[in-house]
Amino acid sequence: MATILCAGGAGYIGTHTCIALLQAGHKVIVADDLSNSKKAALDRVQQITGQEIPFYQIDIKNENELSVIFAKHKIDAVIHWAGFKAVGESVEKPLMYYQNNLGCTISLLKVMAEFGAKCFVFSSSATVYDVHNAMPLKEEDVCACTNPYGWTKWMGEQILRDVGKVDAQMSVVLLRYFNPIGAHESGLIGEDPNGIPNNLMPYISQVAVGKREKLSIFGNDYDTPDGTCIRDYIHVTDLAQAHILAVEYLMNGGESNTFNLGNGVGFTVKEVIETARKATGLEIKAQTAPRRAGDPARLIASSEKAKKVLGWKPEHADLEEIISSAWKWHSTHPTGFADGRRDASC
Ligand code: NAD
Ligand code: UDP
Repeated sequence: MATILCAGGAGYIGTHTCIALLQAGHKVIVADDLSNSKKAALDRVQQITGQEIPFYQIDIKNENELSVIFAKHKIDAVIHWAGFKAVGESVEKPLMYYQNNLGCTISLLKVMAEFGAKCFVFSSSATVYDVHNAMPLKEEDVCACTNPYGWTKWMGEQILRDVGKVDAQMSVVLLRYFNPIGAHESGLIGEDPNGIPNNLMPYISQVAVGKREKLSIFGNDYDTPDGTCIRDYIHVTDLAQAHILAVEYLMNGGESNTFNLGNGVGFTVKEVIETARKATGLEIKAQTAPRRAGDPARLIASSEKAKKVLGWKPEHADLEEIISSAWKWHSTHPTGFADGRRDASC
């Protein structure tokens, strides 16, 4: 059993992973400033698992506040999700992205060094890969980003690689997520971004529940079968399992490593919308809009390395099933965690 600090653990991927970690017998501590999440999400995690989670509402960049957590708990490993993730916003506000995303990583590493914590799992992204690579993408393929958000992920990886070179005890797993969607089987937690969603799936869900009128399909002139972008969608609970395997791999002495996490199958935006219409039985209005800056036409993972080295076995390959799990959450919580009415019935 390990004690794991989940930085940014109140967010979408963090909460799903906290459930999996607790159910696997690990102890979880969450630090999050709630800039893109709500405390209610962690309350649901406690409700689902029946376990208490020590929670610290702090800015991870604040080393003094981080030190208080490390002084109080003997942290074995850190999983780091804390950061901003909207590609378009990162183009408009690059400094905000570099400061927050890199600042959080650096503060965590400094405080970990002070307290002798040596295992680090980082939430990287498929966006680090150069758009000219052939599909499916492998970990050793060329990296080059198209927007500041992507560069923060790439630079975060580089900082971790550099620290690993001078600190032989520090071991790091870089997890490059493809497109996480879906929700926990209970329907009690799911994606609930603050403001207008940037990602496809929460936007589709908000159109389906009637919160937004229609979806914009960003570009229909890409070099793909129907002209819309292709992505590799992975169930968030499969992603959560990979984090457990990554932490256990490091705790068992595994060397620093990088792993792609995807299903290895690509779907166009139009295919996702069609599948969502089937899963929800609703019309889901959509219209073509200009391309979104920085969007590559295709991103599909080879996750063979994660399967071989970590023993990762994603359980959900069927897109309609994955979308149905998201719909279970969104249809019962049309206003996300703010929907107090539902709390009583959970
Ligand atoms: P999320 O926004 O739901 O979670 C991130 C959490 O970090 C939020 O709870 C937010 O409040 C917190 N946070 C941000 N800045 C902070 C700070 N300075 N101090 C403390 N907390 C802070 O996002 P998510 O979808 O769960 O993604 C988690 C991580 O995975 C992010 O770093 C993201 O870039 C990365 N990632 C996500 C995807 C995706 O499609 N969701 C894909 C690839 C990589
Ligand atoms: N997308 C879209 N409309 C939206 C949101 C996203 O057409 O409102 C497209 C986007 O251009 C991309 C795909 O859906 O081709 C997945 O986008 P998302 O932001 O979910 O993930 P990304 O792959 O950019 O990390």
